[in-house]
Amino acid sequence: MAGRFSPMSRFVALLATVLALGVRGETLTMATEATFPPYEFLRGQEVVGLDVEIARTVAAKLGWSFRVENMDFDAVIPAVISGKASLAASGITITEDRKKNVDFSEPYVKTGIVVIFPKATPFETADQLKGKKIGVQSGTTSETYVLEQLHQEPERFKSTPEACAAMLAGRCAFVIADIDPAKNCVKGEPALAISDFLSSEEYAIAVPKGKSDLLAAINATIREAKADGRIAAWLAAYTAESDALKDSESADRAAVAEGSAAFVGAIAGLRASVRAFWTALCDDFYLCFFKKAADGSSRGLYLVKGLGVTIEVAFAAIVLGLFIGFLVAVIRSSHDKYGYFSFLNALAKVYLTIIRGTPMVVQLLITYYIILRSVDSKILIAILAFGINSGAYQAEILRAGIVSIDPGQMEAGRALGLSYWRTMLRIILPQAVRNVLPALGNEFIVLMKDTSIVGYIALIDLAKGGDIIRSQTYSVYTPYLTVAAIYLVLVMTFTWLLGKLERYLRNTGADVVHNNS
Ligand code: GLN
Repeated sequence: MAGRFSPMSRFVALLATVLALGVRGETLTMATEATFPPYEFLRGQEVVGLDVEIARTVAAKLGWSFRVENMDFDAVIPAVISGKASLAASGITITEDRKKNVDFSEPYVKTGIVVIFPKATPFETADQLKGKKIGVQSGTTSETYVLEQLHQEPERFKSTPEACAAMLAGRCAFVIADIDPAKNCVKGEPALAISDFLSSEEYAIAVPKGKSDLLAAINATIREAKADGRIAAWLAAYTAESDALKDSESADRAAVAEGSAAFVGAIAGLRASVRAFWTALCDDFYLCFFKKAADGSSRGLYLVKGLGVTIEVAFAAIVLGLFIGFLVAVIRSSHDKYGYFSFLNALAKVYLTIIRGTPMVVQLLITYYIILRSVDSKILIAILAFGINSGAYQAEILRAGIVSIDPGQMEAGRALGLSYWRTMLRIILPQAVRNVLPALGNEFIVLMKDTSIVGYIALIDLAKGGDIIRSQTYSVYTPYLTVAAIYLVLVMTFTWLLGKLERYLRNTGADVVHNNS
């Protein structure tokens, strides 16, 4: 046996290596939400803006390397609290509530929130807001304003541009947002305008409680950059860049707007001619997937890379799930039939109960924020979370298969002189798998589509890729329908392969022990 390792010990060794490599060196990780120009926005695939400049300067001062993590705004402060990020720089307003959980640097910008309104229904006084549908970015001070000043529930969106798109589509009456991103939103939108300030606020950088060295470096950087005019210069430069970006996007959209209207009509099957529909589709396709961004890459890349992530996570998780599933199913059924492995059986039951009793998305977040918080690779985290989850379902499917095999098969195997494990592996399992292949296939397909929630841990998969394109282009049909079509093709291909495997297994009738009783 020397020199041979069981699959389990190899897996543990691999996991330990990855954990060890994943432990962070001196890297300053900035948590942010990059739809907030000029503080942070995407230049192609890269996050740029005033906040990025400040954080990068802090990293340079400390001699650390620097990395930006783009995530939803309501995840930014939790990322700092949990230690996933060294600091959060995301146009964050200093508030008493937040001060209870994080420490703030000195403020670097004075600002406030405003109302974005359609010119058709001009906004004059705050009374007008009462009882109306008000769009806000989730987790922001604008959300707090609606809850606490207007005493009503806001319409929560992932970003301010998204809230504005919803307002343009007639889904909310007003949007409340910070003034600078609000100005960017109304740029090139002749139908929208912004109000005076509803409140005054100040932005600062958030760090975990008690990190006084880091806080001192941030404060020194802010003070110096204010004094020598860099903050003002960055603000001006990034405002110009993000305005230009918005202008070119608005122009693109103006060009397809006519066609888009036709697009809607065509889908409803009412007015538009096939030709207008086709032109709109082509224009929209070009805008969403092929038009070059500022860094020379096309948006379609989000989908290509995202598809890679989806496939990688889904298939690795299926394999890990199968491995766990086999182990648990054999333990459970051996215990139920022959009373073997009582302790392992109890463990397996706890595992099944917990995994099947809690939502996948919660398991993913717990893996990311708590269990594997020192692991950097989000792909690995996703594979482990999905594999461990799917293992529970696969285990029960396989157990059903094992139980369905006539006990005579085990007796016959043993009578032929095979050990318990050999009989299990060579005779029982092949038949069991063949019987439950359709149910297993089902589980694989569900898993494949379920991976679309990895956006919660800021991993860009196929679904998130489509979402990013939608948020940059304001076009909803093309990105989402394309993403749906790609998933469909993926699942159909997989179903076809499974069908082939099923036929192959049906035709190879070996492994069955024919006992003549
Ligand atoms: N300043 C607002 C807040 O802190 C919004 C910030 C943002 O959306 N990035 O809540």
